[in-house]
Amino acid sequence: IPVDSFDLVIFGGTGDLARRKILPGLFRRFCAGQMPPEAQIVGAARTEMDDAGFRDMVRAAIDEFGGGAEDPGQLDSFLERVGYVAVDAKGDGGWKALKDRLRDDCVRAFYFSVGPALFGDLAERLRAFGLATETSRIVVEKPFGHDLESARALNRELAQYFDETQIYRIDHYLGKETVQNLMAVRFGNVLFEPLWNAQFVDHIQITVAETVGVGGRGGYYDDSGAMRDMVQNHLMQLLCLIAMEPPAQFEPDSVRDEKLKVIRALDPVEPHHIVRGQYGADEKQPGYRAHVENERSRTESFVALKAHVSNWRWAGTPFYLRTGKMLRARTSEIAVVFKDAPHSIFGAEAGRHNNVLAIRLQPNEGMTLDVTIKEPGPGGMRLVDVPLDMTFADALGPDGANVPDAYERLVMDVIRGNQTLFMRGDEVEAAWAWTDPMIDGWEARGDVPKPYDPGSSGPEDALMLLHRDGRRWRDIK
Ligand code: NAD
Repeated sequence: IPVDSFDLVIFGGTGDLARRKILPGLFRRFCAGQMPPEAQIVGAARTEMDDAGFRDMVRAAIDEFGGGAEDPGQLDSFLERVGYVAVDAKGDGGWKALKDRLRDDCVRAFYFSVGPALFGDLAERLRAFGLATETSRIVVEKPFGHDLESARALNRELAQYFDETQIYRIDHYLGKETVQNLMAVRFGNVLFEPLWNAQFVDHIQITVAETVGVGGRGGYYDDSGAMRDMVQNHLMQLLCLIAMEPPAQFEPDSVRDEKLKVIRALDPVEPHHIVRGQYGADEKQPGYRAHVENERSRTESFVALKAHVSNWRWAGTPFYLRTGKMLRARTSEIAVVFKDAPHSIFGAEAGRHNNVLAIRLQPNEGMTLDVTIKEPGPGGMRLVDVPLDMTFADALGPDGANVPDAYERLVMDVIRGNQTLFMRGDEVEAAWAWTDPMIDGWEARGDVPKPYDPGSSGPEDALMLLHRDGRRWRDIK
């Protein structure tokens, strides 16, 4: 279904995120027929460039990151909708020219794909130069603050120029197809929700593992670390969707109210329930400290923790979270591990068997449900766990394989004016209020992260975090 006509300005249109994700995503939506013919995309950044120069850049970006066009004519007609204005976020240059490009009778959206230090400057100038209208939207990238205080300051600053209903704080994890499917599975079936509580769920595991190191982002990363870069936003959002009560409607504030209640119900995490790690060197490459060029760095490239949501539904059920770089495999999954059957009629030798619902965000988005069955053959009543596998690409045919990228979907939500999959200001602040004391705590204690080998599952202590509770992490594979 095509969205309403729009003008989308991408501040930082020449940057890495715009070239890798936003522009190729917009092109895919164009090919899917979702973009109305008069829609306009305007790149805006500091570099001096004309429309033709920017179009060449966009063409190259789509060839490189978007898989190119099936029909070259499609890319040409997409590029006719693309233009560029050089603008200085910190000065007066270019704003008048940008304003003159925009139309009055359509949705107006401004994507802040620039460093967070410029968010306030852009918001201020959008108002000062009269570009922002009552229905304009701004899209704000991560990181949203460095701690509670800075996030509050940023919220206050944006609120001077825009209403909360106009601010779209992006967390691209919420745009992933599987993440939305998590809500469909929970609230669209009768099968799971009655079991979705402390009585039947033994524990939850959320893993986001990367195989890459800090790459070219060393300076930023060393200042932030895995807790700020991943847990405070992405892992917390996943936790919220797993733990929240059913919202009354799939409607922005209903969903976000329920998520906020989860964050506020999180207990403070005790220091011995947090494990931090830092990857070392191997024969192929130097370790973390060399990558960030800081030989004394105490920043974590891995963190695991045990959290508790203190409410009726989840009292006593641990949520184990872990994320890190340079791990064995690139995998993101949420696993809901159900309790043992209350009594085994098959005797002790049949072993313990848990149902596990695993929701895979990558690779191969999909879900599996481990169920216990009889091992085939004449060997008596031996039990074995087998997965009921629902890989979207298999189950849904070509449409399953064509799962839209997260950015692609979220940008269209902005145009539609749907904030459901965007973080509200109070959610972001509540998340920082939970992570800040952990960070302050280890800084005050002078904790040094535990070393771990590249290609491993993280430091030994992270394994012990579960072993001590008689549980084990699922394999990173
Ligand atoms: P980048 O450094 O590649 O691009 C920055 C862009 O901002 C460039 O287009 C530059 O011209 C523009 N810019 C800088 N100063 C300016 C000024 N004074 N006036 C106007 N334009 C100016 O950065 P990026 O990697 O594209 O990241 C952009 C934002 O997205 C950041 O907030 C980053 O944290 C966030 N983000 C990036 C990624 C990613 O994969 N790159 C992922 C998640 C979030």
